[in-house]
Amino acid sequence: MIEVNRKGEVWVFAEQHNGQLEDTPIELMSKARHLADILGVQLAAAVLGDNVKELAGKMIHYGADKVYLVDDPLLGVYQTNSYAKVIYDLIHKYEPQIVLYGATTAGRDLAPRIASATKAGLTADCTDLQIGDHETVKDKKVHKNLLFQIRPAFGGNIVATIINLARWPQMATVREGVMPAPEADTKRSGKIIEEKAALSRQDLPLEILEEHKRPKKVDLKASRIIVAGGAGVGSKDNFKLIWDLANCLGAAPAATRAAVDLGFIDHDHQVGQTGTTVRPSLYIAVGISGAIQHQAGMSQSQKIVAINNDPDAPILNIAHYKIVGDLNEVVPIMIKSIKEKGIKD
Ligand SMILES: Cc1cc2nc3c(=O)[nH]c(=O)nc-3n(C[C@H](O)[C@H](O)[C@H](O)COP(=O)(O)OP(=O)(O)OC[C@H]3O[C@@H](n4cnc5c(N)ncnc54)[C@H](O)[C@@H]3O)c2cc1C
Repeated sequence: MIEVNRKGEVWVFAEQHNGQLEDTPIELMSKARHLADILGVQLAAAVLGDNVKELAGKMIHYGADKVYLVDDPLLGVYQTNSYAKVIYDLIHKYEPQIVLYGATTAGRDLAPRIASATKAGLTADCTDLQIGDHETVKDKKVHKNLLFQIRPAFGGNIVATIINLARWPQMATVREGVMPAPEADTKRSGKIIEEKAALSRQDLPLEILEEHKRPKKVDLKASRIIVAGGAGVGSKDNFKLIWDLANCLGAAPAATRAAVDLGFIDHDHQVGQTGTTVRPSLYIAVGISGAIQHQAGMSQSQKIVAINNDPDAPILNIAHYKIVGDLNEVVPIMIKSIKEKGIKD
């Protein structure tokens, strides 16, 4: 077990594949910087891989004071055992108080392994992180400056705040897209601490011959405008309305889980708690009720337009522009008008 070290740093696992940083650790850096500043400790990134020194510099540009760099050919391709062993050794040596991972496929695989090895806790899929104090009910002891790990629970119907009193480091995975990425500041400088990986071939039970990554059908996170359809669209054929409106706006088509489950569109397009989290300039919600699990993925959009024939639909409560009407009438009028008049920024 790692001792509770209140001077310990805040760490972000800088996940990379083929020398490319994932988006989520970069998104995590602004929040992690904020947490470290409140705690008055340094922010560090852990960069693991083969030939990845350049990424250490990038993490400093994104806000790290320090980078722990473990550069080794045996870390060329992500494998649970090797990465978990190296991170565990780093944690043991430097005793960070907080370690954050993106809730990516690798992050969701790695973080529980490390939690188990360090006998620490882990909160999965957080949507927010804060620093706060907690008074225990039993002995009224006040625990100061804990990591509040915030995430939806019970199917998204409540938001739970989870804390970790004694089993440190405090660790969490954070959902993709929920935190705005910081701007890179290429003038920032920091310290790079190179560490050796205590690894041998035996730590790599798998021999990876080839990697195949299925490209996503749509990059919702990068889209400035999103047109999303819900179950109210009625059928896969009628979902053409969503594609047409998206096409004439140069937007990405998206959907609710209900629309995906009904087979109107592929899961890659799903927005929400179990889909992608987006924050576009404009989000047009068509035939969507606005369930809390959907709102979890789109409520940060700058402008929301909702088209719904039910004046009491919850989506209308968060929409900046509300159109109460039948989508089969409203959407064709919008498409015609955009085609005739064009769009202005
Ligand atoms: C653990 C968990 C995770 C979940 N994750 C997600 C997630 O990631 N994303 C997600 O979206 N959901 C998610 N859900 C499901 C979520 O709870 C809702 O069931 C879903 O979002 C509803 O989708 P909808 O709005 O398309 O359908 P509905 O709730 O059925 O709403 C359809 C809407 O269309 C309107 N409508 C119908 N006909 C018309 C018309 N002709 N013109 C205009 N409006 C019309 C109706 O008034 C209604 O408001 C999750 C649920 C759980 C339990």
